[in-house]
Amino acid sequence: MMIVMKETATEEEVRDVVEKIEGAGALAHRIRGSRLSVIGAIGDVEQDASVASLGLEGQPGVDRVMPILKPYKLASLQMTHGERTVLDIDGRKVGGENFALIAGPCTVESREQMMQTAHAVRDAGATMLRGGAYKPRTSPYAFQGLGREGLMLLAEAKAETGLPIVTELMDIGDVDAVMEVADVVQIGARNMQNYPLLAEVGRSGRPALLKRGLSSTLDELLMAAEYILKEGNPNVMLCERGIRTFENAYRFTLDLMAVPVLKELSHLPVIVDPSHAAGRRDLVTPLSLAAAAVGADGIIVEVHPEPDEAICDGPQQLRASEFAEYARAVEQAAALAGKALAGKERVLA
Ligand code: PEP
Ligand code: MN
Repeated sequence: MMIVMKETATEEEVRDVVEKIEGAGALAHRIRGSRLSVIGAIGDVEQDASVASLGLEGQPGVDRVMPILKPYKLASLQMTHGERTVLDIDGRKVGGENFALIAGPCTVESREQMMQTAHAVRDAGATMLRGGAYKPRTSPYAFQGLGREGLMLLAEAKAETGLPIVTELMDIGDVDAVMEVADVVQIGARNMQNYPLLAEVGRSGRPALLKRGLSSTLDELLMAAEYILKEGNPNVMLCERGIRTFENAYRFTLDLMAVPVLKELSHLPVIVDPSHAAGRRDLVTPLSLAAAAVGADGIIVEVHPEPDEAICDGPQQLRASEFAEYARAVEQAAALAGKALAGKERVLA
């Protein structure tokens, strides 16, 4: 159930409604829009029925009471009345008219590799630095990431360049260590439906980049986001990274239609990962341009000083020496969709 307050509703009237909802056993999520307050009453079937029987329509300050039509509630665009969420990651905005360029290696390998990459991407205008310290690998015999040592190198790279860090959390057991370093915690495609992990990230309040599962529908992605939002963490970015289809000429099928459709369904920012979809460097630039032009709120892309020497995902990583040219092209494509690269100095309100 969604309770839309009048523009003139007082703080006390809003509080009254919240108390009534909580009294009926449901969660009351208040969303403060620029014009009006909306309160989402979120509960199971029984709690929904109790809220419905409260007669909130007649309550002072209440404009309308409406059912929430989608199975995901807090993630739905209906819930914010069409207002879009804009995240603020250490001064870098994500969403709205801002375009986030998140770049860095697949995995943290060494101090030299991290520093070289971090400087190259920062100087070219990247807004955040990515790098995995814990890697979800298909083979248990493949390199699994440097773990805590990798996290320390990410922290060093941040101290040196000022770039916020995006890194993956795979295991609840590593939550404290990862949260010490991550400005944005990445939930990998393979963990999209790891519900205890999602709830933990929700409780942490830390901005999250939630990747779409390899074979997940958009509804399933939004339900996964709901697990994070439900714990009171509104800072979620959705990420399209390619899905498995019958086509096997490339690694995954980058579903760019997901961008406008997710925006139709949800208020959350949408990021595209062209690297893992393509699996090939030569496809990364055209896919990035298409993603930016179709209205993505940002791109997360893999970059390495020497991709041929990379421990993992070498064939798809952009060369750090070519990144500045890439960033300029992406910036132009983003401008077609009315967005500008949101570095710390160039944040758009
Ligand atoms: C990654 O971004 O490092 C990664 C492993 O991606 P995905 O979870 O999308 O495969
Ligand atoms: Mn990778």
